[in-house]
Amino acid sequence: MKFNKFTCCICGKEVEEYGNNPWPVKEEGRCCNRCNLDKVLPARISLIRKENKENE
Ligand SMILES: [Zn+2]
Repeated sequence: MKFNKFTCCICGKEVEEYGNNPWPVKEEGRCCNRCNLDKVLPARISLIRKENKENE
C-alpha cells in the first residue's frame, strides 16, 4: 500500500501517510495521524459534547 506525501495542514510537517480529515480544527486539507490524535479527535469530542448539551 502506497501513501501520498502531503503537508499536514495543522503542524505543517510533510508526512507520508493516508491522512485524516482535520475538521473541526481546519476545514480544508489533510492532517497527519499525530495531529489527528492530539488535536482533531479531542476537538471533535468536545464539539459533540457541546452540541449534545445544547440539544438538551
Ligand atoms: Zn500534523
